[in-house]
Order: sequence, then structure tokens, then C-alpha cells
Amino acid sequence: MRTERVCYACDARIDEPAARCTCGEPLWLDVDVDSFHWDDVADAPGMWRYEPLLPVSEPPDGLFDAAGRTPLMRTTALDEFAGARVHLKIEGENPTGSFKDRGSALGLAAIGAGDGPANSNGAVGTVSHGNMAISTAAYAAAAGVPCVVLVPADIPDDRLRTISQFDPTILRVDGDYGRLYEHTLELAPALNAVFLNSDVPLRIEGQKTTALEICEAFAPETPDAIVLPTSSGGHASGVWKALTELERSGAIDDLPRLYVVQAAACAPIAAADERGADEVSRIEGDETIAYSIANADPPSGTRALAAVRDTGGSAVAVDDNAIREAQRTLASRAGLSVEASSATALAGVRYLTETGEIDAGENVVAVTTGTGLTDRLGSPAAETISLSDLKARLRAVL
Ligand SMILES: *Cc1c(COP(=O)(O)O)cnc(C)c1O
Ligand SMILES: [Zn+2]
Repeated sequence: MRTERVCYACDARIDEPAARCTCGEPLWLDVDVDSFHWDDVADAPGMWRYEPLLPVSEPPDGLFDAAGRTPLMRTTALDEFAGARVHLKIEGENPTGSFKDRGSALGLAAIGAGDGPANSNGAVGTVSHGNMAISTAAYAAAAGVPCVVLVPADIPDDRLRTISQFDPTILRVDGDYGRLYEHTLELAPALNAVFLNSDVPLRIEGQKTTALEICEAFAPETPDAIVLPTSSGGHASGVWKALTELERSGAIDDLPRLYVVQAAACAPIAAADERGADEVSRIEGDETIAYSIANADPPSGTRALAAVRDTGGSAVAVDDNAIREAQRTLASRAGLSVEASSATALAGVRYLTETGEIDAGENVVAVTTGTGLTDRLGSPAAETISLSDLKARLRAVL
């Protein structure tokens, strides 16, 4: 399999383990997909079914087998709220509770097998204090690979406890945390280490599998639209790459429209789309309950914008009230607990049907990117009754 890196923007080819093109845009791997058909799907666990489209052939077992192959639920109970035919892709089912496991599994499998960038010393790092940190540390533990997690100096103790379970080296970094993401990518080659940040080539390959699973489930049809909560644009890049590879190989005829959804308080990609710009630029972001997707300067923002334009979708923003309402509706009407960032997917579908970008009869896949079960979202209020009142109270409520 070819593993040269190419630039989606200027078509440059780069044969070094770089994450960025000389034009500044993110690189991805050139995977040979000329002849993929759904019959070629491998008899393998989890996301490794798509091995013919992935740059890793023999992943380790254990946690690696548990990444991906998440449920896709046709959820009629949400059609009225959303205004279209809703299908939920439940990424919270991954071992650490988010889609990040797909990219972590692919990245660590490549590095562990020595298929990573040449000269890698088999160590990984990441810059995150959220789902990315948890996922990378867990897969590094499962691969037996040393892992460094760079977190902000003021990280809350609860977060540290969650990440430290997997025993990575955690370094609190004092300074401009926003700069650290690109800085580590620049430092990595000299350190012979791989930083598995949100939008690096290996992670993108793993994150393709979300879209591969969706398309296989609909084959020989395709869904009309995929709606994706978006921050760095890494997941959106993987989804776009998968769709174009499937189209090129003839496995799908029509590209589903890709919509990326952001929180209105921090929506640089949606802002760029709205003003008709071709490039996403840094904004001054505000606080939002959807903190996992609040990136004011997304490293693959421009690539995500190219993805939505290429597929006929768009980038949209939903406010915290709409996110909260969608989050409550997912739990109370569909029984699904998701974190606020993930609820933007359903809020986004509702917004897009209200604005007429998605029609009532269309099949829409809302990707719920992460679980809410760890967030303790409900209210602690509950009535206390005495045992002698039990029957009467049950009769009243049941
Ligand atoms: C990381 C994350 C996102 C955003 O993904 P990007 O690849 O950074 O765009 C969305 N939802 C959840 C739950 C996440 O953890
Ligand atoms: Zn380029």
C-alpha cells in the first residue's frame, strides 16, 4: 500500500513524516483505493473490517478490536424534533466513549507495528485535556507504547484523574496552550516521536472508518446527509476522505452532503462559510457548554470547509439553548446520553431542516461523537417516600 503524503489543497506530494504541507495545509496519506468493493470488507473485528482501505494490516488484539463498529440506529422517535428521518451513529460506544478511539487505534497500531513514520522511536504524545487525551493514553497503554499527554497548567483534578488511570506521563504546560498543537508537530521529527494530534495523517485514516461504516450500512443506497459536530476538523477530514475514496473506487455513486456543526459561541468554520471565504481564520471564541468542540483556531478548519463545499453541505452553528434542548431530547425521547458537544449533531439537523437545507423525507445520519454517561447531566432532585406509602405513590405515577 502506498503511504506517501499528499496535500488536498495544492496536490503536493511529500515523502517525509510531516503533518503539514509547505503551503501550510494539513497533509493526509495517499492510500491506493482503485479497486475497493463492499465484498472486499475483511472478516475482522471492529474497524479492521476496512483493512483494504487502511494503512495498517495487522493490528494488535485487545482494545484495538473494540474500536469502531458502533451501532447505527434508525430513531423514528426523533424525526418530529429533527424534521427529517433520523439515524444516530453512536460513537459513545467506543471503549473510551468517543470516536477518538478510531484514530488512536489506527495511530497506535501503525506505530506499534513499525508502520508509523520511519525513524519513529515508538513513543506517542498528544495535546489535549479531554477525550483525545483519554483515548490516546488508553490505546498507548494497550499497545505498551510510552505516551506523553500535554495538558494546560490549570486543568481540573477530575480530568487529571480520568486521564491518569491509563498511566501516561502527564505534563502540565504553563504558557500559550493554543500554540502547543502546532509546536509539537514541528518538534516531533527531531524527537523521533509521533504526536497523534487531532488532524495528523494517521489519525485521519482511523477516523475515515466512521463514514465507511455509515456507507456500508446504507449500501447500495447512500444517506442524503451526514451531520457532524466539529472542532479541529480532523473527524470531518476523515469522513470526507472516506467518501471520496468510496466514490473513486465505485463503492458509492453519490456523495452524502456533509454538514459540520459548531457551537455558536465558538464557530470559526461556520463563520467562514457564511461570509463565503475559502479559508478559516482564528476568531475570539466565547465559553460554551460544548467545550469539547470549542476550538477558535481549528488546524483543519479550512480542510473541513473544503469538505462541506465539495459534498454540497455547509458549516452551521447552534447556540447553547438549542444544544441543551437537543441533549435533553436525546436522553428523554431516545434514551441516549451524549455530551453537550455531541448533541450539536441533533441540534444541527433541526436547524438545517428549519432553514430548508435538509428536507423532511431525507435520511440524515447525526453522528453523536461522545457519551454523556460520564458527565452526570441529570438533576439530583428526587422525592423521598416511606415504605407504607409505596403502593399509593406507585399507583399515582404508573
Ligand atoms: C474531539 C471531539 C469532537 C470534534 O472532533 P474534531 O476532529 O476535533 O473536529 C466532537 N465531539 C466530541 C465528543 C469530541 O471528543
Ligand atoms: Zn499544499
